[in-house]
Amino acid sequence: MISVAINGYGTIGKRVADAVAAQEDMKVAGVSKTKPDFEARVAIEKGYDLYVSIPEREKLFDEAGIPVSGTVEDMLEEADIVVDATPEGIGAKNLEMYREKGIKAIFQGGEKHDAIGLSFNSFANYHESLGADYTRVVSCNTTGLCRTLKPIDDLCGIKKVRAVMVRRGADPVQVKKGPINAIVPNPPTVPSHHGPDLKTVMKGVNIHTVALLVPTTLMHQHNIMVELEDPVEADEIKARLDETTRVMLVRASEGLASTAEIMEYAKELGRSRNDLFEIPVWEESINVVDGELFYMQAVHQESDAVPESVDAIRALLELEEDNMKSIMKTNRAMGIL
Ligand code: NAD
Repeated sequence: MISVAINGYGTIGKRVADAVAAQEDMKVAGVSKTKPDFEARVAIEKGYDLYVSIPEREKLFDEAGIPVSGTVEDMLEEADIVVDATPEGIGAKNLEMYREKGIKAIFQGGEKHDAIGLSFNSFANYHESLGADYTRVVSCNTTGLCRTLKPIDDLCGIKKVRAVMVRRGADPVQVKKGPINAIVPNPPTVPSHHGPDLKTVMKGVNIHTVALLVPTTLMHQHNIMVELEDPVEADEIKARLDETTRVMLVRASEGLASTAEIMEYAKELGRSRNDLFEIPVWEESINVVDGELFYMQAVHQESDAVPESVDAIRALLELEEDNMKSIMKTNRAMGIL
């Protein structure tokens, strides 16, 4: 049984903790918090050992009546590997501490590829992280692109991708981010960083992306245009995506015509936190015109890359050589369709 520490128990970290706890071959060594807030209290109620990220604040946890088991450094002593889910840029700073402790670490998409040296997606390049000390699970948007472009590349070869990424302005919990009433080209420069990020896991893919922020918290949405190497019918693409795990075809005609309705469907699935780990692709949007494939998909930013964090643990610790074996184990434990 592998013991996994989760450093940073926020939007991603709390989901990774629950996903790890659900696996047969892993357990949670502990989770860390900077503040004695409601998430810290819930972590204790769930049975996770709680560690303090900022040692001087231990007193605040005592005063709030939230028991802690020590500092992050103490937590690392209890673990075989750490998943770092701290805010953007902090993970890279933590790398030195992990190196000193001699512990393997998985980082999230907010860190720069160059700061970690290796990036990860379960389908595109699992084998590259086998036995590595550190890897970075690519961002929610890049994971979404990878999940659908990889099977399409395998089926008929990709000559060139262009994608327009419509991004949620903030996560549902974030009250100080926006926009509230604007559409913001973000970044305003073209192309955006999403294309180069995909190339860290799907090497050699020719892709250019542009991105916008819009006033929604529910999901991101992608509009993807792919010039193909080999001729293919839209139905073959539908069939391939339909059989691809962690991707789901959804029909606007069945009432799943928007991100709001897709999130309602996630609630109906009865998942914890209404998460949707799969990438929904609108079946009606899939079309091939003059050898160019068009499709639209959505990304539940808070959860889609969480199963990849679990697979990354198996890759780094060489628990599974074969990516599909890890993917299927993770899926079974998390109830992924
Ligand atoms: P978050 O702010 O929700 O959670 C981060 C947690 O880390 C918080 O609990 C915070 O208190 C804690 N923290 C802050 N400083 C710390 C420190 N020095 N040591 C330990 N813990 C500390 O952030 P998030 O949205 O979960 O993002 C985490 C990472 O995941 C980032 O790299 C982000 O880019 C990436 N990511 C986020 C999303 C998303 O949509 N939220 C999607 C994919 C990837």
